Amino acid sequence: MHKSTSFTQHTIAIIGGGAAGLMAAYFAKLNNTDARVLLIEKNKYLGAKVIISGGGRCNVTTGISPVSEVLRNYPRGSDFLRTAMNAFPPTSVQNWFETQGVPLKTEADFRVFPVSDDGHDIVGALENALQELQVEIRCDTAVAEISHMINSEDASKNNSPKFLIKLKSAEEIPVHKLILTTGGNAYRQTGSTGDGYAFAQALGHTIAPLAPSLSSFITAEKWPTELSGISFQQAKLSFISATATNQKFERSGPFLFTHKGLTGPAIFALSAMAAYENFSTENPARILIDFFPDMNSEKLEEDIIDKFEKNSSKKLLTVLGFIVPHRLAEKILSETTASLRLKIPAHQINCSEVSRQLRQHIIRQLKSLELHLIGRGAGEEFVTAGGVPLSEVDPKTMQSRITPGLYFAGELLDIDGFTGGFNLQASWATGALAGEKCH
Ligand SMILES: Cc1cc2nc3c(=O)[nH]c(=O)nc-3n(C[C@H](O)[C@H](O)[C@H](O)COP(=O)(O)OP(=O)(O)OC[C@H]3O[C@@H](n4cnc5c(N)ncnc54)[C@H](O)[C@@H]3O)c2cc1C
Repeated sequence: MHKSTSFTQHTIAIIGGGAAGLMAAYFAKLNNTDARVLLIEKNKYLGAKVIISGGGRCNVTTGISPVSEVLRNYPRGSDFLRTAMNAFPPTSVQNWFETQGVPLKTEADFRVFPVSDDGHDIVGALENALQELQVEIRCDTAVAEISHMINSEDASKNNSPKFLIKLKSAEEIPVHKLILTTGGNAYRQTGSTGDGYAFAQALGHTIAPLAPSLSSFITAEKWPTELSGISFQQAKLSFISATATNQKFERSGPFLFTHKGLTGPAIFALSAMAAYENFSTENPARILIDFFPDMNSEKLEEDIIDKFEKNSSKKLLTVLGFIVPHRLAEKILSETTASLRLKIPAHQINCSEVSRQLRQHIIRQLKSLELHLIGRGAGEEFVTAGGVPLSEVDPKTMQSRITPGLYFAGELLDIDGFTGGFNLQASWATGALAGEKCH
């Protein structure tokens, strides 16, 4: 026999105490003061992923204000997000946290953090707000299953509970309204293990194919390891798919070499655009790096000729090292030596002796250095692309179009953003809307 929690009150349950669930619980209680609002979280504490986000500093939202511009940062979900984002835009999110006693700061790249650089403060503010409103919080409580309360006496009555939550402990909780905020399945150690996909399916939904997004790339070439840690502030990166279509995705911005390949904001953005592209050792994708995106090849050549003339007695390696990091200059010249089958290694040549062919080969390397991609940083992705299809959810309310009384918010939905606070922003906005509309 199952234990069943007795109740009489209208009950709204929120499953998952992450960013979306915390905000949903707040707005649900604010708008339904007489209802029992119950937040269920399987971890021993709330907001595990929020706490570790942004390297523990929590990039809580973006400093970009115009909603139309904010929405450009979602490879999937930007149209769907319009209502939620207009209702709770980044400026309102910032005001909300500051009003709750968490001062924020906006960094030069528009990322917004708590002044304390501590994600605990963000979760702490939400927790205090929920306690003040008397939201019932149950941590260390895992939901095992959710079903419709069909064929029960209760379900046939008006205002009777519509859903039955079964906990791992075997306890059963009937509820009137349900908000699913169980997140994706990235960084599973934080508790986001994709349980919500099965809950959504059990309640009639399909799941759009899942894929890792915001990940690093592993290169077939081993030499990036020698450049590990070297970063570039403004490069243009082009991803060319491994399929016959040669689909291309482009992104400009910062990136860095790692001991396995490439990472950094522009790489994360490319990985999001190419989230559904398959590539492997047998069938690699390619990436072309333009280290001088603001200069065409002709202008770059003019600049380089000028540098060579002014330093004619110096070695090519020394002068190339004036415009790119020395280790990259070494790599480019050793590749050049091999490709052009030079008798004298390129790094030993004096600037005055550089042939047109040699110079133009170097320029091609600087404008489109090619690497082969054989994988993504496994288990290191920040978010999950795919999830509950947006066509099955009303963007004005976050309510299911399939199962009335069921709402969704956060990463469980088929929404994902670039780095820069956009994923948390989507969770705050969809969580707030689901909470507000759920009554
Ligand atoms: C390392 C890392 C750094 C990041 N940094 C940033 C950043 O700086 N800025 C940014 O905008 N985004 C960042 N993100 C992404 C962002 O954190 C997520 O997109 C966001 O937290 C998703 O919120 P959510 O509420 O949908 O899901 P989550 O925050 O994942 O919360 C889901 C919650 O549901 C609970 N749960 C799951 N199943 C059950 C169950 N069966 N029963 C009960 N509870 C359950 C989980 O324990 C979890 O606490 C980062 C992600 C990672 C992994």
